[in-house]
Amino acid sequence: MNELSLKILQREGRFCSSAELDRYTAGATKQGLSLHSQTVQAISKELVTRRRQFKKRRLAWRKSAGTRRSLGWIPVKASALRYRGGQVWYCGKPLSLWDSFGLQQYELGTGCFSEDSRGRWYLNVTIQLKQPPMSRETKAVGIDLGLKDFLATSDGLKVEAHRFHRDLAPAIAAAQRANKKQRVAALHAKVKARRKDALHKLSTALVKEYGAIFIGNVNASALAQTRLAKSVLDAGWSAFRTMLQYKGADAGVWFEEVDEAYSTQTCSCCDTRTGPKGVAGLGMRSWACEVCGTLHDRDVNAAKNILKKGMLARAVGTGLQGGSTSSSFAAGRGRLAEGIPAL
Ligand SMILES: [Zn+2]
Repeated sequence: MNELSLKILQREGRFCSSAELDRYTAGATKQGLSLHSQTVQAISKELVTRRRQFKKRRLAWRKSAGTRRSLGWIPVKASALRYRGGQVWYCGKPLSLWDSFGLQQYELGTGCFSEDSRGRWYLNVTIQLKQPPMSRETKAVGIDLGLKDFLATSDGLKVEAHRFHRDLAPAIAAAQRANKKQRVAALHAKVKARRKDALHKLSTALVKEYGAIFIGNVNASALAQTRLAKSVLDAGWSAFRTMLQYKGADAGVWFEEVDEAYSTQTCSCCDTRTGPKGVAGLGMRSWACEVCGTLHDRDVNAAKNILKKGMLARAVGTGLQGGSTSSSFAAGRGRLAEGIPAL
């Protein structure tokens, strides 16, 4: 398809559409290409989308060999996939899989087969879920994401950053020196799996405990250009927020990102900006407010401000209660939310 698209461009000076590619590739699946015709169509669509996105005459991707080899990706439509007796059937072929999810009870939707860097294949599909129940929890929580501590909540819970990469870095380095490629790949996969597991457990626990979750909008990719990059990438903030979002939606828990400007500097008791500022204040883990005298943990105070801000912006009579922020406080100030300067 890539070559065809380029040839049409060279000969006729125009870009072809995916529908046109589909006409050329029609019947290929009957001539021995063991892919479903919908898979071929999904690929032509992807090709045209990416060609436009990256403004390329020809895409230079999906190498099938060598070190820069692309990982396998086979899109499938719902109608091309059947689940029977612990196997998925695709194109008349049974594919065995480890069903960790209980696929029998769901109707499979659109998805794909994908390969990881170790050559293992996964089936990703959308499924239909029943209407989620509304969460019966009424507590709200603010979450401050950080580098030293992965997160601090407005209730005072702190979770240390899981430095999985650093834990395994010596082993990875040793394997690299010994030129054991498979071992390196296995260790990287292990780092990834451990991190993912920890984030899943944490996000599930939070969604179970709270009825509303507000989280600071700290931008990992902006910070990742600095020397803090390794810690940031380790921390996996965006993955964590995504988990909270979908798990929250599933459990009927309110989830929202809050602008966290000044959340560190502001005293969560008296709203004055007496906290640590700028680069000089980065190492300050705790501080006392000059105005009201309250002793603050840096990150927990920030989480309290994030909760306050989220409650103010969303303040409606939801009956949510969060730490020191009562619902009446939130409801009373809510209408003024737009007029209140950043915390
Ligand atoms: Zn204060």
